[in-house]
Amino acid sequence: MTHPIFVSVALDVPLLPPLTYKAADGTSPKVGDRCVVPLGKRQEVGLIVGLSDQTDIPAEKQKTYIRLLNETEPLGTTWLKLTKFSADYYQHSWGEVAIAGLPSFFRSKPRPRYLQSLERLRKPFAKKKVTEQQTELSLNDDQRQAVEAVKNSHGFAPFVLHGVTGSGKTEVYLRMMENVFQEKPQAQILFLVPEINLTPQLEARVRAHFPDKVIVSMHSGLANGERARAWLACHEKRAQILIGTRMAIFASLPNLALVVVDEEHDLSYKSGEGIRYSARDLAVKWAQLKSIAVVLGSATPSLETWSKVRSGHYRLLTLSKRAVPGACLPALTVVNPREQKTVKGFCTEVIDAISETLEKKQQVIIFLNRRGYAPVLTCPTCGWLSKCPHCSTYAVYHKYNGRLVCHHCGWSSPVYRCCPDCGNVDLIPMGAGTQRIEETLGQLWPQARVLRIDRDSTLRKNAAKEAFEAVHAGEVDILVGTQMVAKGHDFQRVSLVVVLNIDAQLVSANPRSEERAFANLMQVAGRAGRFGLPARMIVQSRFGDREIFAALAQQNYPRYADYLLGIRKAEWSVPYVSQALLMADATTIDKALGFLEHAKALAENIIEEEHFEGIVVYDPIPMALMKVADKERGQLLVESGSKLLLTKFLRQWYRSLCSVKTTVHWTMDVDPADV
Ligand code: ADP
Ligand code: ZN
Ligand code: ZN
Repeated sequence: MTHPIFVSVALDVPLLPPLTYKAADGTSPKVGDRCVVPLGKRQEVGLIVGLSDQTDIPAEKQKTYIRLLNETEPLGTTWLKLTKFSADYYQHSWGEVAIAGLPSFFRSKPRPRYLQSLERLRKPFAKKKVTEQQTELSLNDDQRQAVEAVKNSHGFAPFVLHGVTGSGKTEVYLRMMENVFQEKPQAQILFLVPEINLTPQLEARVRAHFPDKVIVSMHSGLANGERARAWLACHEKRAQILIGTRMAIFASLPNLALVVVDEEHDLSYKSGEGIRYSARDLAVKWAQLKSIAVVLGSATPSLETWSKVRSGHYRLLTLSKRAVPGACLPALTVVNPREQKTVKGFCTEVIDAISETLEKKQQVIIFLNRRGYAPVLTCPTCGWLSKCPHCSTYAVYHKYNGRLVCHHCGWSSPVYRCCPDCGNVDLIPMGAGTQRIEETLGQLWPQARVLRIDRDSTLRKNAAKEAFEAVHAGEVDILVGTQMVAKGHDFQRVSLVVVLNIDAQLVSANPRSEERAFANLMQVAGRAGRFGLPARMIVQSRFGDREIFAALAQQNYPRYADYLLGIRKAEWSVPYVSQALLMADATTIDKALGFLEHAKALAENIIEEEHFEGIVVYDPIPMALMKVADKERGQLLVESGSKLLLTKFLRQWYRSLCSVKTTVHWTMDVDPADV
């Protein structure tokens, strides 16, 4: 007689530790298999995370799983360790991370004809046509050294590849990948990118470089079936390269041999909902668990990453100049709109520079971080402002469709014909967004071809792609837009970059705001002068004497990063402390804050009873943007100099919070991007 086997099953339920079930007769479960189990009245797909031949559960209470799903290989040990680590670190149950990380096909109960569907998912990928011609470049010294360093590394090796836009980072990633395949043709590589839609050029380059490899991508734009197919190809080792956004971090890559994180500072690597993980941080963790190299690339690494370079934990690889012979960086001028004559918001120096550039038949980029026509509409008679009725912010005026739109909750309404308070019919747009700048450009340079690129202009599928193609084809003279214009595109003939409205970011109360402004500025600067045209960058700002502009003029990121780290260290703030944020929302701010007060008392109890000295708990406060979509929101910050201590404390605190009976909705964010 064979002994019964018991399996421990992780389920996608908050706080629930893995549950024990009996294996059905005649089945042989393995750790990493999935199975369908009864859970209360429901049936759920769970993940087997442990096996045993005994249990404490009395025989009459033992439950048997309904179906073992082992038609695919079990999930690997490293993948299990990664999901377990993420669950512990971000305060979720193992199943919440592991099951939720699977494509819906693998996390839902098998439908009829499951096996046929599985076979269909295994259909081989057709080779995509390689559009880009591949030319074998000879690397410059910096590039060669970077490639060699990774090639010669052993075991877990975290690298930071720092180089301005156009310094040849992508070329370096490709060569690093090539070396991995040379040693191990069946190796798998994970290539993380911030937003897949903005990087079609990148994908095309990777495909052109590795025409014989199976390359799959994973991002939120994929249909369920496509995602399941890509996932399975990675899991079954049929795909060698996975290019994906943050969600790709939980893919199963049994032969993983190298991880690349491009634009590692990008905010999109941090999830803003559900399990609030940082794909960048987990990429490093994965490399550590697998004992392989990880390369974090950026022109402006995050301060978290830079501090690890300075403390010797990460090795720095620097590309010190632009790779294309003759390419240069733009020369910087800062002009103060308070001290110069301005026409419709443009300083005269900017106007002259634009005219000159257009005369030379070169292209201009105008960058401002604000879409819409005007950020607020006002009544000059009574002072009325276009507030959003559901948020503590203003509704933005969009002129082309004549609407007021809240960028936080999506509320929108036709623009009022007259002031709702006093009836005055002359409402005035205040300030300028991309639409208004587009209009002004049309008035100042009527013969110029102006193209606006922002979220509103690119709603239609392929709109962004077509717009960028128009820029490449030289069909555009002036490109105006938000951050979207700054990301990852090789523009051929841009020789002038103008930045409007950066000041709001420089005077923000958020300590990370200036760091992000610098990353934005460096990135747009990178759009100009890529192919041998001498280039200029003009920034309109009242704060021309700030350190940020001195560093920008030299394109000297280390100087600026070291300066900011000095301030952070003196102020004892991130990355020198670790943080977690408890966020609560309710119908009124008093309810939200009341819950947070209670949470604070619980925290203080735990600290006292369990001797968690070194954990600091702040007072609950309303969030900077307090009301969004009729929910009033508060937050409570906890901090510690020790990450380990904080994680242990959070575990206990989280448990006690879960036992609080409340109608307030709350979430915890470990390593929050903003506090
Ligand atoms: P980044 O990723 O840092 O923005 P890329 O790898 O895209 O830089 O390189 C920018 C441009 O320089 C590309 O057109 C690329 O083909 C070219 N390039 C890269 N390395 C070299 C090199 N060693 N010699 C000549 N051109 C290069
Ligand atoms: Zn009025
Ligand atoms: Zn709103």
